[in-house]
Amino acid sequence: MRRKIITVFVAFLTLAVLPAARAPVTASGGQNVLPNNHEVKHVIIMVADGMGLADVTAARIRKNGIAGPSLRFETLDEIGYQRTFSEKNTVTDSAGAASAWACGEKFVNDEICMHADGRPNNANLLELAKAEGWATGLVSTQTITNATPAAFGAHVTFRDCENEIARQYVQITRPDVILGGGRNTFKRTSPDVCGGVGDYITEAQSIGYTYVIDRAGLQAAVAGGAKRLLGLFRGSYMTPEILRPPTSTEPHLSEMSAAAITTLDRLNDRFFVMIEGGVIDLVKHVESLDALVPEVSAFDDSVGVVLDWINASEERKQHTLLIVIVDHETGGFAVMGTEVAGAEPLGYFTGGWTFAITPPAMAGHTGTDTMIWSQGPGSAALGRAIDNTTVYEVVKAVLR
Ligand SMILES: [Zn+2]
Repeated sequence: MRRKIITVFVAFLTLAVLPAARAPVTASGGQNVLPNNHEVKHVIIMVADGMGLADVTAARIRKNGIAGPSLRFETLDEIGYQRTFSEKNTVTDSAGAASAWACGEKFVNDEICMHADGRPNNANLLELAKAEGWATGLVSTQTITNATPAAFGAHVTFRDCENEIARQYVQITRPDVILGGGRNTFKRTSPDVCGGVGDYITEAQSIGYTYVIDRAGLQAAVAGGAKRLLGLFRGSYMTPEILRPPTSTEPHLSEMSAAAITTLDRLNDRFFVMIEGGVIDLVKHVESLDALVPEVSAFDDSVGVVLDWINASEERKQHTLLIVIVDHETGGFAVMGTEVAGAEPLGYFTGGWTFAITPPAMAGHTGTDTMIWSQGPGSAALGRAIDNTTVYEVVKAVLR
């Protein structure tokens, strides 16, 4: 009996991660439901670092009104959520969570797809895509060597070894497109905490990367048909939206997303890209509702750019797996009001935070399950309650 149950369970699991190409055609009455039975040629993973469901509520109310339209990422076909615990903690950090997606197993917080105790680790999803001949890219508003992108491009036992992560990008993984913050981690004049002192900007240029540092440079490089693209737009993380003056030369996440997809699509009819709204997490660590809303809105704009690209062609709609996902919640943010009828205007709210902080102290992460919005071939397996490691199984199955 037990054996039969296990067999059925394994069969179910196998079904859940089967490549969509083998799945039967499913009838759908939903106008918005995309075909789910095609080969995948484009995998686009978009990470909203630290974004809880309350952030979605807050950003939507502020942007579109209390009964207004959904944000763009809310319109995706499949909605699920995931457990986020890491190998030794109920509450994960971005390293443990991104490593679970990228490499398919639990890691200890601070580890980037590499176990400090020496156990072997899997290749990450970007490496698997590259091995299949796909073009690849990494985009973030954080330093591009920060934990989330790092899990898709490097293997280190400690996330702060950012210069070593840059070395691995340039010397080993070589994503075709690398865009974000982090000039100071890519080129060190003094050793970082791990002793890294390399200049991987110059080295990248020597192997064919077009290097840009501002919006105009990025646009010129894309217009010029750059084959390898390294854009580092600030020394550390990119400036939060709320602090950017109109004269800022830093590209928005939507502009970096467009540049990455245009370049990758031109390079190869198959590509894998990870795009992160990394500053969402930062503004939540300091518990700023006013900074959070424009940051989520900018992330949503970048999802909009991607959706517009997908929707521009039937071929893209049928062959693109888009996953919008959250690694962990930060700050324990909640949308709060008085509940007294008419006491405040409909749509008014305040932000509540679980961590009581006094600046410069910062809030931490919470262990609440986090959202997954997705669409395209393979996404049905993500529209349910899963573990974060399942994301790896689902994506790995469509990389071929
Ligand atoms: Zn964080």
